[in-house]
Amino acid sequence: NNSVVWFRQDLRIHDHPALTQACDYALEHNANVTAIYFVTPKQWTQHDVAAIQIDFIERHVGLLNQSLAAIGIELTVVNLSCFGDILPWLQAYCAEHHIGQIFAANEPEFNERQRDQKLISAGLPLRLIEQDCVLAAGSVNNLSGQMYKVFTPFSKAWKKIAASQSIMPLGIATFRQPIPLPVLCQFKCDEFYPHRVSSEQWAAGEDCARKLLKQFIESDITDYQQYRDFPAIAGTSKLSPYLAIGVLSARQCVAAILFHYPDALVNEASPAKTWLNELIWREFYRHLLVAFPKLSRSQSFNELGQYIQWRNDNDEFQAWCQGLTGYPIVDAAMRQLNQTGWMHNRLRMVVASFLTKHLLIDWRWGEQYFRQQLIDGDLAANNGGWQWSAGTGCDAQPYFRVFNPMTQSSKFDPDASFIKQFVPEVAGWSLKHIHEPHLKAQQGNLMADLFSERAKLQADYPAPIVEHSFARKRAIEVLGALKRG
Ligand code: FAD
Repeated sequence: NNSVVWFRQDLRIHDHPALTQACDYALEHNANVTAIYFVTPKQWTQHDVAAIQIDFIERHVGLLNQSLAAIGIELTVVNLSCFGDILPWLQAYCAEHHIGQIFAANEPEFNERQRDQKLISAGLPLRLIEQDCVLAAGSVNNLSGQMYKVFTPFSKAWKKIAASQSIMPLGIATFRQPIPLPVLCQFKCDEFYPHRVSSEQWAAGEDCARKLLKQFIESDITDYQQYRDFPAIAGTSKLSPYLAIGVLSARQCVAAILFHYPDALVNEASPAKTWLNELIWREFYRHLLVAFPKLSRSQSFNELGQYIQWRNDNDEFQAWCQGLTGYPIVDAAMRQLNQTGWMHNRLRMVVASFLTKHLLIDWRWGEQYFRQQLIDGDLAANNGGWQWSAGTGCDAQPYFRVFNPMTQSSKFDPDASFIKQFVPEVAGWSLKHIHEPHLKAQQGNLMADLFSERAKLQADYPAPIVEHSFARKRAIEVLGALKRG
């Protein structure tokens, strides 16, 4: 009656109920606990997992090995290809190691849930533990017992339930005396990921993530509301890479808030309110994924989304991906993503609106490109953010609200310091031209044939790919397909 912990997007030993329960189970049966991690690169490419995120995961699996060895648990890395390979492997493993119970965290995504159901139907003793959210998906419902479709009532109900509970992270599960450090297999991903992307610019480890959380809560959280929209200022926590792969749990974050701001769940004026709200958005999107499996399958939340006539111009898409749209704020953001694997939230909204509304390119193209680059790639938040921006989502931005990239630029990067960091070509331009690039293009007499090859070749930096008021009008017409009736 040994037990095994199957680590997934929960690469930590603190506040890990599945690990704690696996240890309790083994102690009860006077048996052993082991741990496994499956490397499934074919599946990951199908899910568009970014190479940088895989590198980040691999570093954390290495650190997890050390943490587990220190509490007497041996971790094995298993190189497979896709989810379908897991069943025969686990069947053989369970038989050979006399496994009475497999413990793992529930995941909200459709394929992952299907995989788990198949394993359970095949008779594997898989026990799924709810630890992915602070409040389990399905536990925050409206009066008719349904998932909310609007964020504000969801968040109110969420806070009410959370306030009635004790939100206390579990300590480190302890099992036995330390064991010698197991030698882990390296991740074998080359066939599907021929180009590795290093995540070294992101510090790794649970201790590091917990330290960042502590620093943020102790100092920056009070200024979050004021600074969070300015990409040149380090005003947000930058914890998303750790939350996405579970080096840190959402419960640890909420508990840290409550430790410093005990009334944060009930006091609307709490300095922690805005940041707490973002964590609730995270839960909202995860709960939606479970309530509406179609979201995992690239379908619009609003079914009228299928009638939108996207333009899907491939050249324009490439210009957007490469940060060559001629709008410095959009391009700086895309280059931040390409160079660091992360993008500031305000800019995610700006570039997503630009792609789906100014260029009328299907949100799924942007969702996929983001996922392929992001170190914090996460189906629920990414899909939620893209569908919010496109206007197709649950409680989304209305289709007729089209961000003006010029206003966004002057408002949120007023001195253009963020833009200049990533788009050095415009560093010598006046602020007016940086924020309103069509004026620069006009000055260079390029506006007349904005879309001609000559215009593109003459400039060090491209003229705007599309004119704002024209694009806005076109977007409102085309996205009017989302209107009911
Ligand atoms: P903070 O502002 O410090 O917020 C704290 C945490 O709350 C974040 O780490 C994140 O876990 C959560 N959070 C914050 N905002 C949101 C939100 N709008 N939705 C869901 N959770 C949120 N976030 C991802 O983690 N992965 C993604 O793949 C992702 N894709 C996005 C795509 C688009 C088009 C948009 C508009 C947003 C996306 N987000 C995504 C949400 C948000 O941009 C990031 O979570 C945030 O920028 C991460 O930075 P931070 O850790 O400093 O956030």
